[in-house]
Amino acid sequence: MHIRQITNLLPQPMRFGLRQFVFKGSAHACVLCGNHVREFRSHGGGADVLDIRQVVGGKRRDNDRCPVCHGSDRTRMMMMYLNDETPVGDAPQRILHAAPDYGLYLWLKRQPKINYTGSDIDVSRYRHIEKMQTADLTKLPFEDNSFDLLICSHVLEHIPDDTAAFAEIFRVIKPGGRALLLTPFALDGVGTDEDPDINNAAEQDKRFGQWDHVRLYDREDFLKRMRCAGFDASLFDPFDSDRDQAERMHLNPLEMLPVGTKPLNS
Ligand SMILES: [Zn+2]
Repeated sequence: MHIRQITNLLPQPMRFGLRQFVFKGSAHACVLCGNHVREFRSHGGGADVLDIRQVVGGKRRDNDRCPVCHGSDRTRMMMMYLNDETPVGDAPQRILHAAPDYGLYLWLKRQPKINYTGSDIDVSRYRHIEKMQTADLTKLPFEDNSFDLLICSHVLEHIPDDTAAFAEIFRVIKPGGRALLLTPFALDGVGTDEDPDINNAAEQDKRFGQWDHVRLYDREDFLKRMRCAGFDASLFDPFDSDRDQAERMHLNPLEMLPVGTKPLNS
């Protein structure tokens, strides 16, 4: 049995404590979980398509991932946006966090006035996160206009009927509320490549960059799909917003965050 399989049997607080102990150091401070660690680790995939299609958000990055909470560049980018550009921490915010990143969850938990709900189609994978609710993004079990913020990172590229997911995300957000929607994005301008009927892990890895993805989005096309669902959509560029902070947090200079605002009159 591999060491990872053994540690996975431990309860989450024990695993978290073990990682805190093993990786303790002074080289990096994680803005998400607050731990000081001796190294950040590499993460990301190596499929050829990620290079060919100039994909941001999936390729391997070195010295990037916190070994304790597993938060990476994209998680820190979302945290920066929430901290700098939204009322999180100042005004009451009801938040839906789909397929929650543990690091961002830990950061949100430390903010005042947060009413947090996590969701996933399989909540058994999230025993370490409180207030999880089983939810299919194409059929959300929430009332219209329920949330101030919805965070959904690296989920939509797994969902065959993303039109239904965009519509549901729009429906449950309050007018004036926002959705942070992130996936890997091709930047080569060729367009979105998708095939909802594909059911072949090797082919999906080759075409979309990961064995369980059903498409590879073009970033501009993704914004169009957000607008079709009703959102005012734009890209948050952390380097344009605050270059020093973005560099300090080792964000990816090519990565930007699509943000959708639900118009007040909808
Ligand atoms: Zn961390």
